[in-house]
Amino acid sequence: MRAMLFEGVGRPLRPAEIPVPRPGPGELLLRVRACGICRTDLHLLDGEVTVAEPPRVLGHQIIGTVEGDGRRVGVPWLGWTCGRCEQCRAGRENLCPFARFTGRDIDGGFAEYAVADERFCFPVPDGYPDDQAAPLLCAGLIGYRSLRMCGDADRLGLYGFGAAAHILVQVARSQGRRVFAFTRPGDATAQAFALGLGATWAGDSGEPPPEPLDAAIVFAPDGALVPIALRAVAPGGTVVCGGIHMTDIPSFAYRDLWEERSIRSVANLTRRDGTEFLTLAPEVPVRTRVTRYPLEAAGDALADLRAGRFSGAAVVVP
Ligand SMILES: [Zn+2]
Ligand SMILES: [Zn+2]
Repeated sequence: MRAMLFEGVGRPLRPAEIPVPRPGPGELLLRVRACGICRTDLHLLDGEVTVAEPPRVLGHQIIGTVEGDGRRVGVPWLGWTCGRCEQCRAGRENLCPFARFTGRDIDGGFAEYAVADERFCFPVPDGYPDDQAAPLLCAGLIGYRSLRMCGDADRLGLYGFGAAAHILVQVARSQGRRVFAFTRPGDATAQAFALGLGATWAGDSGEPPPEPLDAAIVFAPDGALVPIALRAVAPGGTVVCGGIHMTDIPSFAYRDLWEERSIRSVANLTRRDGTEFLTLAPEVPVRTRVTRYPLEAAGDALADLRAGRFSGAAVVVP
């Protein structure tokens, strides 16, 4: 089969012919229909998140059909957990120290076929074409988990208006929240995109919002945004860091944290997040904006993501 291989940090993905993977017990062989790209893939390419055993097929937002019965399933970042450790038993399988992640520890979806543990596959809601469903699996799921950490916040700030934020603004609006979108300075396209999806306000990431926020989610991998977001939230407000990696957070005055403001991170997802969000998405209904790339252009897709050359999400189609 055709696949795009990650061979090491700093090296471009390489097109290769490799054997179709063989499913083991409890695993499904999937024909990949579309696979979303994600900021995490850039962190893997750059070595900010480690791929322990290259070569590896990246890609962790897979929409595929099961070879044999044609069922359509989605495969997320969380590919396997031990089910036995303290975290797993406490309902926090996202924090399992033995977890294996799709497209990092297990070959992912930048290929014609993939194998996945059936227990970690989700049914895909009807009404979403394959390419439009793919971004629900990480951008949507991690966004949803991040939103849960914001409690009942009415005024919600989103720092970084990419794939996750463009889904989350729709969910937040359907819950009656107001969304304040912060983009790269001067990114008029992203700001117009945010307003078009229902954001109350859109502006540059360094700007203060027109009124204090009840919570903010930082999706951009820029630690300098954390103290900025902290200063934008009202007393009692929360800043949620939604990415797997961020540059260092600069020091800030204690008064910025004072009055019961808090900072927390969100790591990975649980299967419960997946089931809940994939039920919610068609009810909103969430509409995803996707840019399609052929499999062999996965590297171009990632370069475009890095440069902010598309709005919304992007998928690779084998
Ligand atoms: Zn992701
Ligand atoms: Zn575990």
